[in-house]
Amino acid sequence: PARPVYAGLLPPGLQKISNIVAVSSCKGGVGKSTVAVNLAYTLAGMGARVGIFDADVYGPSLPTMVSPENRLLEMNPEKKTIIPTEYLGVKLVSFGFAGQGRAIMRGPMVSGVINQLLTTAEWGELDYLVVDMPPGTGDIQLTLCQVVPLTAAVIVTTPQKLAFIDVAKGVRMFSKLKVPCVAVVENMCHFDADGKRYYPFGRGSGSQVVQQFGIPHLFDLPIRPTLSASGDSGMPEVVADPQGEVATTFQDLGVCI
Ligand code: ADP
Repeated sequence: PARPVYAGLLPPGLQKISNIVAVSSCKGGVGKSTVAVNLAYTLAGMGARVGIFDADVYGPSLPTMVSPENRLLEMNPEKKTIIPTEYLGVKLVSFGFAGQGRAIMRGPMVSGVINQLLTTAEWGELDYLVVDMPPGTGDIQLTLCQVVPLTAAVIVTTPQKLAFIDVAKGVRMFSKLKVPCVAVVENMCHFDADGKRYYPFGRGSGSQVVQQFGIPHLFDLPIRPTLSASGDSGMPEVVADPQGEVATTFQDLGVCI
């Protein structure tokens, strides 16, 4: 499909990246960063060269979710480029590694900062760059989608009925930009206790999403204390427990990217 803006004029830092995958959600707190990070480390575990770009300047999660030795991005003063930091072989760029914490900025400024971080980073040769999008489908997201030639989008949501409307917004945004939505991840869909499975937010909206929007893949992620603990500890669950249920789900997701 035709790419909106940068056709033939790709910023040098992005030229050697084969696939740029957006992980997106309409609201904060649904598990978008958890999915982005675990997806990235799954792809890396499959042998791919991978980077993560944390585009959430208002609440960057990457510095919490992974613990690189070097927690500050370095500049190459001659080339005026940013050198990504690295954890377990995955290249990482986040506003949270820029030494300023979270930002108080207005929309256009945010877009400028995101685009600069993304396009001036020396990503080198990558098979996948996973972009942890800022939550929502507004101007910041649109601008970002127009700056990078996304090859695929993954939408993260929770199972409530309302979330269905959110997914619709996300699908509409990506379809306007001619970016294929390859999967929806329904996060926090159930938990197991006392030998029983509970669905605290109800069931069924996932299959409705697949039918209505023709999205080829739907994945469920359970509520798991280990997922949140690993998110807080700096080691992604798929790295900590590579044979576990969550790792298996991410391998299935990784294959369809
Ligand atoms: P978002 O990027 O959408 O704001 P996060 O990925 O940062 O969401 O997740 C918000 C919080 O919920 C984090 O503390 C994360 O560890 C936790 N969390 C996300 N998904 C799960 C899950 N399936 N089970 C348990 N905790 C989760």
